[in-house]
Formats: sequence, structure tokens, C-alpha cells
Amino acid sequence: MKNIAVIGAGITGVTTCYALSKRGYKVTVFDKNRYAAMQTSFANGGQLSASNAEVWTQMSTIMKGLKWMFRKDAPLLVNPRPQWHKYSWMTEFLAQIPNYEKNTVESARLAIAAREHLFSWAQEENIEFDLETRGILHIYQNQQDYDHATKVNRLLSMGGLERHAVSADEMQAIEPSLRGDLYGGYFTPSDSTGDIHKYTRGLEKACTRQGAHFIYDATVQKLHTDGSQVRIDFAQANSGDTQTETFDGVVICAGIESRSLSAQVGDRVNIYPVKGYSITVELPDAVSQQSAPWVSLLDDNAKIVTSRLGLRRFRIAGTAEFNGENYDIREDRIRPMVNWCRKHFPDVDTEHVVPWAGLRPMMPNMMPRVGIGKLPGIYYNTGHGHLGWTLSAATAEIVGDIVSQTMPAELDNSLGTLSEPLRRAS
Ligand SMILES: Cc1cc2nc3c(=O)[nH]c(=O)nc-3n(C[C@H](O)[C@H](O)[C@H](O)COP(=O)(O)OP(=O)(O)OC[C@H]3O[C@@H](n4cnc5c(N)ncnc54)[C@H](O)[C@@H]3O)c2cc1C
Repeated sequence: MKNIAVIGAGITGVTTCYALSKRGYKVTVFDKNRYAAMQTSFANGGQLSASNAEVWTQMSTIMKGLKWMFRKDAPLLVNPRPQWHKYSWMTEFLAQIPNYEKNTVESARLAIAAREHLFSWAQEENIEFDLETRGILHIYQNQQDYDHATKVNRLLSMGGLERHAVSADEMQAIEPSLRGDLYGGYFTPSDSTGDIHKYTRGLEKACTRQGAHFIYDATVQKLHTDGSQVRIDFAQANSGDTQTETFDGVVICAGIESRSLSAQVGDRVNIYPVKGYSITVELPDAVSQQSAPWVSLLDDNAKIVTSRLGLRRFRIAGTAEFNGENYDIREDRIRPMVNWCRKHFPDVDTEHVVPWAGLRPMMPNMMPRVGIGKLPGIYYNTGHGHLGWTLSAATAEIVGDIVSQTMPAELDNSLGTLSEPLRRAS
């Protein structure tokens, strides 16, 4: 039986582990944290949103972003301090503008494909994760934003998504608790929400039942490959000892750290950490519970997404900050989300609000990197940016198939040079 390592126990690493275990591989997952899903897969927006598949590499989005740079409470913030990685990444991001339509269509297609796997795994493995299948409502306050959404709809429907226009009255009927000025909206009944952390922990347990092994508090420091085996050196947090284990292959699912790990094996996976924040509003009483929405919302102007996580929790997430590997929770970034909650849901109690910040592992084309590396035995399933929860069940299946084709679980690894089509899969 082939032995595969997975680096990272976030949503991408755990779904990859599950896909590989199902295909008959012996899988070992390394994570530097004490538990699964403690980094970006901890408290995100919760949306399983094919309707949010639009990539940001578009001139009007970039112009809006530039205007926002001068507003302190704007959803976008760029630290102007010179930093080579940030500016070179942004240059590559701009170079992706011609691929905007293609990548939006492909993201929507992947997001739809992911649903089937994510839901069937949850059912098979009995995972409870506060799933709400009441759809996602995009809300717009002015005609300009609404007209842009109408253009995006054409691309989403090319990707196979059904999303329909709704009037302000219809929006109120879909989510009666919604308040504030509304111009119009788009509703996607097939989208849903759920708690990424609960799901990842549940799937991790399922992987363990299937024989996978998780090594926590273990920071992977060095990857070596001799063409047939991959050696992993890792430091154990408790003892400080460095240990080594050897595998037939490795899948790198290390979120924002995939970039430095990939460089060790001669690949370039140009991930930039794009910071976002969430607040989890605790709903302590019947009034708050009734006044918070159950239908998931996406306010395109404020760049805010919401999800209802059971009776007692309401999650609000958003903002994009280009400020390197920085996890600081800033009060001036959290306050606009609390104010947004008060404006649209005035009867929701905001006394107990739990703030969080996470770093989206973002590629310049905003598409995940899924496929093989330059050297044999190296695979990637990483760089899912703003849509890791939405896409990872599909990309885990894709990388599972690629590993099966290049390194069958029960046969020896005699493939030698990897074929060009698979190389292009990345
Ligand atoms: C505010 C916010 C809101 C979001 N909302 C949504 C949403 O509504 N819908 C959606 O689809 N997506 C959303 N996302 C994006 C989504 O959360 C991410 O794309 C996803 O969680 C990334 O998962 P990951 O497995 O790639 O990374 P992570 O969850 O960060 O996992 C990477 C893991 O690798 C481990 N690791 C890294 N380096 C090493 C090493 N050297 N050794 C050992 N372990 C290592 C880390 O400890 C970590 O556990 C949001 C993100 C943010 C920040």
C-alpha cells in the first residue's frame, strides 16, 4: 500500500486525506497546530457559495478597490509599505485580467461539483456542521452594483449555476428580518452555509476511522525528494525534537505556507495571505434569535457575507487586507461589521461578539493550485483564496484522481516522467 503524507489539516488537507484514504492510500497528515482547522478554516464566512464564484481580477473591481484605499473603514486595505512579494503578486494579479471570465466560469463549475461530495461525505460519516440549505441572497443598494451583478450572472450560468433576480419586496419575503435600503438582489436557492471548523473536525474523525494518522504540534521544516521517495523533517512542539519520516508522495495543503514549502522542491506556488475578519454574534435571547437572518446574505457593496450557525450563532465576515502574514485583530476593522449588523438587524443583541482574523491563501489568478509538482511524488491542493470551504471537496477529488493515476495505491511507483496533461492540471 502506498504511503502518502499530507501537509496541513485545514479544510483542504482533511478533504484530501479523506479522498486518498477512500482510494486505498495509507495517509499521514502533519499539522503544526494542536487540532485540525485552527488556522484559516476556523471561523470563516461559512458560505458554500457557487454564487460568489466571481474572481476579483476585473477592471471595475480593481477601480473600486483603489477608491476604497482612501477610506479607513473600507472593505479593502493595502499596507503601502514596500514589500517585494506583495507588489510582485499584485502585478501577476493584474496580468490575470484577461482570464476573468474563464476563471469565474470555472470556479462556479467547481463549486457546484464540490456540493455533491461535501454533502454525501457528511451524510456517510454523520457529520453535524450547522448546515443551512436556505440559499444565498446577494443584496445591492444601488443600480450600478446591481447591473454589474446582472453581467456576472451570465458567467455563473455558463458555469451551470441558477441564480435569479429578485426585487426589494421579494428579498424581504425571502428573508423577513432584513432591514435597510435595498435596490434589488439575486437569489441562489441551491447555495448553503455551514460551520467549516465543525465539518473539518468531523471529517478528520472519519479519516481516522479509515486508518489515516494525524500528527499534530508538528511543523514540517524540510522536504527532500530523491525521485522515488519523499523525506519529511518535522519539529515536534512539545519536545522540540526534529524527526524524519519517509513517504511515497506528499500533497501540500498548507494554506499560506504552501508557498515556502513548494519552493523547497523547486515549484512556484505564489500564494499571498489576504487577511479577512469575522465576528460571531452570540444570540442569547428569543428576540435576537428571531431577529437574525436564517438565509445567508452577501452584501456586495460592504463585501460582507453572513451565515446562521444554528439557533444561537450568527456569523458575519468580510474585508480584504494586504498586510503580509499578520494575524492582528484590529478594532477599526471589526467595528464596521458590528455596525453593519446593527443597521440591517437592529434587534440583534451585539453585546457578545467574538472577533477573528484569518489569512486567505490566494493565488494571483484566484484559482486553486491542484496537481503535480516538478518532481515525482509532489502534489498540490492549495491556494483556494476566498472560496476554500466552497471548493475543497471538488479539488480533493481531483487531486485524489491525479495521485491514483500517477502513483496507483497498490502498484509500485514506476511511472518515471510525469505526463504533460497532468502537469498542466496545476
Ligand atoms: C474572513 C474569511 C471569510 C471567508 N469566508 C469564506 C466563505 O464564506 N466561503 C468559502 O468558501 N471560503 C471562505 N473563506 C476562505 C476559506 O476559509 C479558506 O480558503 C480555507 O479555509 C483555506 O483552507 P486551507 O486548508 O487551504 O488553509 P488552512 O485552513 O489555513 O490550513 C492550512 C494548515 O496547514 C498547516 N501548516 C502550514 N504550514 C505547515 C507546516 N510547515 N507544518 C505543519 N503544518 C503546517 C496550518 O497549521 C493549517 O492548519 C474565508 C476566509 C476568510 C479569512
